[in-house]
This record gives sequence, C-alpha cells and structure tokens, in this order.
Amino acid sequence: MPELPEVETIVRGLAERVTGDVIESVWLGKKPEPLKSPAQQIAAALAHSHIAAVHRMGKHIVFDLEPNHVPLPPPSSGQALPKTEETTVANPPLLMKNRSRRGRAALQGRVESTKLKGTSAPACHFIVHLGMTGRLQVCNPNLEIPKHTHAILKLASGRELRFIDPRRFGRLSVVQSFDAGGNEPLEIDLEKFIALFRERKTPIKSALLNQKLLRGVGNIYADEALFRAGIRPRRRASTITSGQFARLLAEIKEVLNEAIVAGGSSISDYVDSDGEEGLFQLEHRVYGREGKPCLTCKSPIKRIVIAGRSSHYCPTCQK
Ligand SMILES: [Zn+2]
Repeated sequence: MPELPEVETIVRGLAERVTGDVIESVWLGKKPEPLKSPAQQIAAALAHSHIAAVHRMGKHIVFDLEPNHVPLPPPSSGQALPKTEETTVANPPLLMKNRSRRGRAALQGRVESTKLKGTSAPACHFIVHLGMTGRLQVCNPNLEIPKHTHAILKLASGRELRFIDPRRFGRLSVVQSFDAGGNEPLEIDLEKFIALFRERKTPIKSALLNQKLLRGVGNIYADEALFRAGIRPRRRASTITSGQFARLLAEIKEVLNEAIVAGGSSISDYVDSDGEEGLFQLEHRVYGREGKPCLTCKSPIKRIVIAGRSSHYCPTCQK
C-alpha cells in the first residue's frame, strides 16, 4: 500500500507532467467501487477543466481544477455556449468476455463525457486515493490500456491520464472543498505536535497511527521513527517528555523525507510505466526485522501487536 512518501513522490511526478494541462474528455469504467462521487458528477466536473495544481494531503492526491479560460471558437449557430457540461451514459455496458481483448474497442464505459465545446464546471478538486494497488499513468493514448483501468482523462496535450487499480480499494471523487482531516506530519510544528499527544493515555504507536491527529504516518514509518527517537511503541504518550517529543517529531520528518528522496529517482516508475514496479522502500532498521540483531546494539529486534498492527522495536535502545 502506498504510504505518504510514495504518494508525495507520485504527486511530484504528476505535478511536473500535468499541471497546466486541460482535461478534454473523461471516460469512466463500469465498476462502481472506485467511484466515490457519482460518475456523472465526476465526468461533468472534470471535462474541460484546467489542472491548476496537483498536491498531496495526507495520502490523498488532490488535483485543483479550474474552469478552462482558453477561448473557444464561436459557435457556428450563433447561440450562447452551453453553461454546463453534458454527459452521456453509454449503452448498457457489455461484459468483457475475453479479458485479453483489451484496447479501445473492448472498453465499455459507464460514462463518457461528450466533446461539446463549452464552459467547464466551477473550480473544484479531483481527489484520488490509491488504496492498495491504485496507480496513475500519464501516457501516450496509443499505449495499450491495461486491465483494471477505471478512468481515462484525455488531455489537451494529447496524452492520457489513466487510473488503474486491480484490487479496487482506490477511490475517485470530486468535491468543492476538501479537508483531509488531521495534521500534515511534514508541516506540523513542535508546539502543536506536543499538544496533540501529551494528554493521551494510549500507546504512542497507536496515537501516531491515528489519522485524526496526524495524517499519513503509516505503520512502517511510525516504527522507524520510534526506533530512531529511542521510544518504545507501547509507551503511553502521556509519559513522553517534551524533549523526547521534539526528537520524535524530528525523526518522523526525517524518516518521511528520506523516503521521499529515495523515491525521487523512481518517479517515472509510478507515473509512466505500465509495469508492476514495486514501491521503493527506505532501508528498515526495525520494521520487519523480528529476531534480527539491532543495527545499533545487536539485541534481537522484538515484534509485538498494538491495536492489531505489528510493531517492531529494540528492547535495549528504546525506552
Ligand atoms: Zn538496539
């Protein structure tokens, strides 16, 4: 599952490739799961919108969309341009009997926006959550459409932005305003960080994973940051000193930033390629190293379960 650093890497790659582009038309597949907003609404909001920015909020990819102001040729009939986008529902979707027969002819869409010239919907956000196996691909339209493609956005630059997700835990939605909840771990300051955690009687590990407090610190990065800060995962948050909180926050930011840097060189793997390239990983010091010697003191790394999640720590280095 992509974690915050992977999502940040993907977002940087997307921002480089699609900022400033215009979505000409939208095709959405017939599987209902990936669509968190109604298909018609997504198609109407996206078609003819200008991609003003792409950024990350927690583990959500946020496309800021604005009406496209590029002047359109005057309508030949002399009538006013339609105010809203129209979408057409494709004929009842046919089952793809032969899965190998992919490509455009085999695509049966739920909704395909029309190519009417017109003004686009008001400014909004297109939100993509990759779930477990979601992937965004920016590519040439003649690149074969992979299995499990759920959305295709045709861009004015001639390329396509595709959403592919075999397991369908990913989600697509459009909203007028977006609140991802929680605080951004890379941006929060120490005072706010301490205020969030110091009253909590829960293990610090559970608190770090609580998305209402911090958004996007996953299991691996929580374990790694706690190891570097010398704090046991089961330690109650309320017993941690201000000095330890300062170190913990610094280590959280460092672990996330290291992972982002490590992923920087593999941006193209996420965004452009058609393969199943794995996610980059920071070299783990404790996560997944149960029984192996601590890299600092050689004590065997322990694994415990906190709130249903595996937690790894060194019993000597972490107090
Ligand atoms: Zn150790």
